Amino acid sequence: MTVTPQPHPVYVVGAGPGGLAVAAALRARGVRAVVLEKSDAVGASWRHHYDRLRLHTTRRLSSLPGLRIPRSFGRWVARADVVRYLEKYAEFHDLEIVTGVEVTRIEQEQEEWILHATGGRRLVGCAVVVATGFNHTPRLPDWPGLDTYTAKAELVHASAYRNPAPYEGRDVLVVGAGNTGAEIAADLADGGAARVRLAVRTPPYIVRRSTLGWPTQRSGILIRRLPVGLVDRLTGLLGRFMTADLSAYGLPRPTGGLYSRVRAGAIPVQDVGLVAAVRAGKVEPVAAVDSFEGGEVVLADGSRITPDAVVAATGYRRALEPLLGHLGVLDERGRPVTGAGKGGKAGKAGKAALPQGLYFTGFTNPISGMFREMALDAERIAGRIARRLAKRRA
Ligand SMILES: Cc1cc2nc3c(=O)[nH]c(=O)nc-3n(C[C@H](O)[C@H](O)[C@H](O)COP(=O)(O)OP(=O)(O)OC[C@H]3O[C@@H](n4cnc5c(N)ncnc54)[C@H](O)[C@@H]3O)c2cc1C
Repeated sequence: MTVTPQPHPVYVVGAGPGGLAVAAALRARGVRAVVLEKSDAVGASWRHHYDRLRLHTTRRLSSLPGLRIPRSFGRWVARADVVRYLEKYAEFHDLEIVTGVEVTRIEQEQEEWILHATGGRRLVGCAVVVATGFNHTPRLPDWPGLDTYTAKAELVHASAYRNPAPYEGRDVLVVGAGNTGAEIAADLADGGAARVRLAVRTPPYIVRRSTLGWPTQRSGILIRRLPVGLVDRLTGLLGRFMTADLSAYGLPRPTGGLYSRVRAGAIPVQDVGLVAAVRAGKVEPVAAVDSFEGGEVVLADGSRITPDAVVAATGYRRALEPLLGHLGVLDERGRPVTGAGKGGKAGKAGKAALPQGLYFTGFTNPISGMFREMALDAERIAGRIARRLAKRRA
């Protein structure tokens, strides 16, 4: 491997799969990259997810550049094996990773990038790749009465949920029917909770993880570039076969096209136990949570319930504002204005461009699987950085 002479390294912020993939792709092109990670190890998010979690994207379609996920990890890779893979990945590519360093602010100074980090560090990079995660900071809705409720009763965000053991014999309300809420509800039902209710605001599309050996992820890849209206119509026609109907059990069929909803950020729920649990009466769909009053939870249909515990699977924020809100590169939802690999390129019509040398990975939630997209983005980003460095030298 030829090493490109660089005035300063490329800094990659975050040692999750996104950041590691970019660092490896840069190294493969002879570009020095230093990964800065605030926790004490790579793959911090995967170390803390709930025990039962497996990749719902297949092993083959989730490998990062330059190292396949071992076949022995099976088709649906377990959480602990994802962590093992990420550790192995960093070691295999001999990545330069500094742990225990949190980047707090990023600034541009002419051609260089200045990173302010914990311990009063001021680091100078020739480019910076932000890979701090789509699921950065747990988000709780601004529910009226939440403070009074938590003073009396137990409420945790799904990010703090590990397994059903603490909930055995208890009445639990899971809020939010995305992939995480659906799986936690099934986990609680399997794990001995006395009663499990699932509060649903917008009924999700629920799809099988695979059908006759064909993974749903592959369909996601095939339809990804098709027009939204066409996919909505197709999935509408095939909906009865592709998606589960739980309307007899209190979970109405979803409205709105499947792909329109994906574009608005609502990925279909991959069924890993919810459908069977609802059909068996072990998970009861209920109306959305409206507010809290004392020890009661008030639902959108006016009913009031008093579960022993609430698990809020209500999503995450990107929390990029403190890091780079001042650079004008975030949209109204706090997401980067343009996609990965586009540092210095004009954004889509009406969208601002990213400054030269600033890149993002992992800030979309595509139907084709994030590991897969981050692997592709890593090559794009590394290619652009390598070309830019070559131009600067010329
Ligand atoms: C429950 C769950 C299941 C998922 N399952 C799948 C799946 O099956 N298939 C799939 O393709 N995708 C899946 N995803 C989506 C996505 O692939 C993962 O979230 C993946 O971990 C994202 O990788 P990332 O590197 O972008 O972010 P993360 O893995 O979150 O990594 C970000 C890293 O940045 C560090 N960091 C954050 N801020 C700073 C800072 N300021 N300074 C320094 N370090 C910082 C964090 O500590 C962390 O290590 C899942 C997501 C969740 C939440």
